Amino acid sequence: MKIVELENLKSLSKYDNHQLVLFFEDSALQLKGYIVIHRFGEKKRAFGATRLWAYQNQEQALTDALLLSKTMSYKLAMAGYKYGGAKAVIIRPKIIINRPKFLQTYVQAVDELAGKFITGQDVGLLMDDVKIMKAKSKNIVGTKIDPVKYTAIGLFIALEVCLNEIFGSKSVQGRSFAVQGLGNIGQGLIRNIYSGAKTIYATDINPERCKAAKKMFSNIKIVEPAAIYRLPADVFSPCALGGILNKSSVEKLRCKIVLGGANSQLSDDSIGIKLHQKGILYAPDYVVNAGGVISIIDEFEHSQPKPSRIIKRLQVIKKNLKNIIDISKKNNQPTNLIAGKLIKKIIG
Ligand code: NAD
Repeated sequence: MKIVELENLKSLSKYDNHQLVLFFEDSALQLKGYIVIHRFGEKKRAFGATRLWAYQNQEQALTDALLLSKTMSYKLAMAGYKYGGAKAVIIRPKIIINRPKFLQTYVQAVDELAGKFITGQDVGLLMDDVKIMKAKSKNIVGTKIDPVKYTAIGLFIALEVCLNEIFGSKSVQGRSFAVQGLGNIGQGLIRNIYSGAKTIYATDINPERCKAAKKMFSNIKIVEPAAIYRLPADVFSPCALGGILNKSSVEKLRCKIVLGGANSQLSDDSIGIKLHQKGILYAPDYVVNAGGVISIIDEFEHSQPKPSRIIKRLQVIKKNLKNIIDISKKNNQPTNLIAGKLIKKIIG
């Protein structure tokens, strides 16, 4: 396994003085990717999940990791942790011949950082994958608790804040939703709103995921991926990949609220400004999707994670989001910019 530290990345658009960028490669297994530490944090420890995705090339993978690791730093700081943010991305080859060996070899790169990088499940990985990795390394988390469950609970807490703000009632009763992405988080979100919501439109680029979701939640209306933005839903919920809110998609939105689990939803800050101008309440992603990492840190810090302790900590999402909305209203400024300013105060 080749592991090299990359330097001179200043020319990359998403570079933000990241503290460490590692490239790893095992040609025999067609395994390659990056571990990116945005900042190590006061305790010299950075958290961030591992993504397995069919990136078109190495540059795209590195750009994603640079952006997502920074988002993790913001998420952790906003949730009140001193740990730093990180991310690992693995470039998925066409075929993974021996998945356990592939993942266990990747773990060697994680362990190279000797406990400074703690990771678990993100897009493309399953709970079983995490268990395989955990068997090789103590730097893997998310086997005793299910971070997806707590991400979904955190999103629901944030949803109630937004519904109350826009409709004067936190109830999902009678509300309509457009959910993009029917993986772990999309399904988790739907599970929590299914019994009350009036209409749930949903989509995924993977038809198998659409079929599985329809089987579980028979009343959802599956739509084509490109159609999800224009739907007359109260809430648009991005639960797939980042950057999906861009100059083109933002024009199509007819919702009142954007709230979802996906990381780095805005292609850049100007999109948050545009949402604000359109009168759409944007719930900043790194504020509302912190439930997963909160649960992961509980597992990491305590020999036995405790659901009641995690749920108590999740209330920070409500507090932060209310604060951001209040400041946004008072100053007539977009929520993403307010959240950014608060982060700057915390981490500089
Ligand atoms: P997942 O791999 O289980 O699901 C992602 C789904 O999105 C896949 O089914 C994929 O086909 C679909 N998708 C990708 N691009 C799409 C597009 N353009 N339109 C429609 N569907 C598309 O991943 P997940 O764990 O559900 O994570 C979803 C998002 O939530 C990611 O951005 C992730 O970083 C974020 N997140 C996850 C967690 C967690 O605990 N898993 C926690 C916080 C944030």
